[in-house]
Amino acid sequence: MFSFSSVSSYHQQLLSNTTTCTQAAEYYLGRIKEQTHLNAFVEVYASEALEKASLLDTKRKNGEPIKKLHGVIIAIKDVICYKNHHVTASSAILKNFISLYTATALQYLLDEDAIIIGNCNCDEFAMGSTNENSVYGKVLNALDETKVPGGSSGGSAVAVQAGMCMLSLGSDTGGSVRQPADFCGIIGLKPGYGRISRYGLIAYASSFDQIGIFGKNIADVSLLLDIMSRPDKQDSTMQTTLLQKPNSTINTAEKKLKFCFFKQVMEHDSLDEEIKNSILSLGKDLEAQGHLVEKIDFDLLDYIVPTYYVLTTAEASSNLARYDGLRYGYRNGHATEDIDTFYKNNRSKGFGMEVKRRIMLGTFVLSTGYYDAYYTKAQQIRRLLMQKVSEIFCSYDAIIMPTSPTTAIALGENDKDPIAMYLADIFTVFANLSGIPAISLPLFLHNVNNMPYGLQVMTNKNDEVTLLHISTMLMQQYKPATASIN
Ligand code: GLN
Repeated sequence: MFSFSSVSSYHQQLLSNTTTCTQAAEYYLGRIKEQTHLNAFVEVYASEALEKASLLDTKRKNGEPIKKLHGVIIAIKDVICYKNHHVTASSAILKNFISLYTATALQYLLDEDAIIIGNCNCDEFAMGSTNENSVYGKVLNALDETKVPGGSSGGSAVAVQAGMCMLSLGSDTGGSVRQPADFCGIIGLKPGYGRISRYGLIAYASSFDQIGIFGKNIADVSLLLDIMSRPDKQDSTMQTTLLQKPNSTINTAEKKLKFCFFKQVMEHDSLDEEIKNSILSLGKDLEAQGHLVEKIDFDLLDYIVPTYYVLTTAEASSNLARYDGLRYGYRNGHATEDIDTFYKNNRSKGFGMEVKRRIMLGTFVLSTGYYDAYYTKAQQIRRLLMQKVSEIFCSYDAIIMPTSPTTAIALGENDKDPIAMYLADIFTVFANLSGIPAISLPLFLHNVNNMPYGLQVMTNKNDEVTLLHISTMLMQQYKPATASIN
């Protein structure tokens, strides 16, 4: 039977003829079929994947050298454009929409001979934390089907968690890769803002959005980051400094590092006691190994969730204006009345409840009379936060904190209470507001409910390489026996 541990060992198996890309594709298609009830995929590209796999097998047999992602089976979130394939952001407003072009990041994967196996369910327009706001219905956590997988990239997380692909792509505007990774017991990386081209990523909040990666080992996640972070003229917000090469930087096995954690985070009321204690004791352990671990003050904590929701909804209200049924999206009948009624009908029927709530909130904070009170204030707090972040990284290599205040919550637990849902983003929005890279590492299992949870690590702007070095070190030292999936 086919089994996967890393891209490099898969490639060794291919080169020694102990497996084929076709076997890999068949294996994953079988896994997807067995687990359709998890609802992780919106569409599976079965025949396409098999065709590509057989083409790659022939190329190899003919002696062609293999590319970096030869036959690597990847799933993508339903917000990433792939030419001639549906992309709907899990929304009725984009039902049956077919991409006219391919997102740059995805094109880079295809150029390296990756096989795209399908696109994954998510919260509508990437707005949510549980994957319960999707026109395709909720996604289930494969470790406990009464629990949410997290969101908004819940389908992509479960696709990796339940072994339905090797790696997957999500998008992270306020935690949508790290939080589902945390709930599912896998790795979720959000690169720094501008590290990966956003061209072809359906926009939620453009100054926050970033494509992220789900995987089960750091080497594979780093490989995808390295490939997708190639420059792209189509995205003018891309970083101009190239990603460093892993061997050009610190050797964390020898170098003693400086970590900090925030007092207000570790003492926060919403934080589960066991999560708090295990992160504190991991800090003690790092200290015992000679690293510096210090507790520092972060008095902006209570402002960051409101700031995030003011700014992202403002950006969303503008980004989502294009779905009017005329230029894009669902059309409800004909424009028989005036144009306003026509738009209203289309948008009222096409968008789900949470998306409408955010468009209205965003329009409100941008309206005359309220703009300064909300939007300008939130921008000022974002600026303060950025200053604080650059001060922190003058003294420390990395910030550590929980990814989420709790382990995966029950399906339906918060879906009628948007404020409670928003508040749970308290530890992830920090990295999006400040644009720094962050990762969730599956280091812990909860003693009470046996669900996984992660450690979140963040490094300075442009320093994904230190983040990945630290992640490798931590995964080697602390990775627990993961809860198993049938
Ligand atoms: N939970 C956050 C929200 O609902 C994160 C979304 C995201 O990162 N796409 O906005």
